[in-house]
Amino acid sequence: MLKHVIAYAHELMEQVIHPGDTVIDATCGNGNDTLVLSRLVGDEGKVLAFDIQEQAIEMTSKHLTMHDVTNTTLILDSHQRVDHYITAEDEGKLAGAIFNLGYLPGSSKAITTNAESTITAIEKIRHSMKPGGRIVLVVYHGHAEGAIEKEGLLAHVKEYDQKQYAVLQYRFLNQKNNPPFIIAIEKKKKK
Ligand code: SAM
Repeated sequence: MLKHVIAYAHELMEQVIHPGDTVIDATCGNGNDTLVLSRLVGDEGKVLAFDIQEQAIEMTSKHLTMHDVTNTTLILDSHQRVDHYITAEDEGKLAGAIFNLGYLPGSSKAITTNAESTITAIEKIRHSMKPGGRIVLVVYHGHAEGAIEKEGLLAHVKEYDQKQYAVLQYRFLNQKNNPPFIIAIEKKKKK
């Protein structure tokens, strides 16, 4: 059976993340993706989890505590400042990032991701990411800002040099009501 976008987003991360790696959850929200990443990197690894809402950081903190997770740093800041949190010890270990875009379910729809900050963050992460690493974005475009973000993102990632990056879109063509889709960016290994 074809996987739903969230399950496939996790699979795409799973394929390239190893114990000991550093990974980024760029939009931690309720912490579901953060927990998945924390398990993939294990005790030797590290997750940097960002959100601009205190409520999201609290929800993620509770979720991780419930599952005895200790390898995650929760950061109340915009992912566009990600470079301030990647340290020298992450050099060569950054295996990727997940962006689950849009707004926090059940919270204000006015606080949502946008093309400018998402693209700024992707640009910073892709340069620090190790070869073989992936940035996976789940794009929700059924709300006004999401529709603008989708257009900006697609136009931006289409320009990546195919010799250096593989850029994938995973999208169900026959689902109604603007279903979410995935953009995955893989930094190619040098031959
Ligand atoms: N990954 C989450 C989970 O597993 O529950 C769901 C994320 S939710 C769809 C999107 C989140 O992005 C919201 O919590 C929102 O506050 C956050 N967000 C919006 N703009 C952001 C930014 N510039 N930097 C970091 N987080 C941001």
